[in-house]
Amino acid sequence: MENFRYLPGVTTLKLNEKECVGCGMCQIVCPHGVFFLKNKKARIYDLDGCMECGACAKNCPTDAIGVSPGVGCAGYIIQTWIKGKNAAACSSVECC
Ligand code: SF4
Ligand code: SF4
Repeated sequence: MENFRYLPGVTTLKLNEKECVGCGMCQIVCPHGVFFLKNKKARIYDLDGCMECGACAKNCPTDAIGVSPGVGCAGYIIQTWIKGKNAAACSSVECC
């Protein structure tokens, strides 16, 4: 989804390719086509397409993916409005 962008160069998405077992779940669940598989390993195709929703990390069976809540986590954004930035926390375990 190359036409869909938030802020360039700010995503916290990290992929540890050594931990990847090539199941393809990240590619399946990512709504923005950030991942692709090559030689049975996940690779990041479009880093700035990541909206930090957390779906890939939640569905990765080996914890090869890390991402913090950010521009795409609606629950986090709403909490910052209600509780303030310091009290907000990602609820992606429940919502994504
Ligand atoms: S956090 Fe969401 S948008 Fe970003 S790579 Fe993972 S599934 Fe895709
Ligand atoms: S979900 Fe995890 S183990 Fe599966 S392909 Fe993606 S990074 Fe690799």
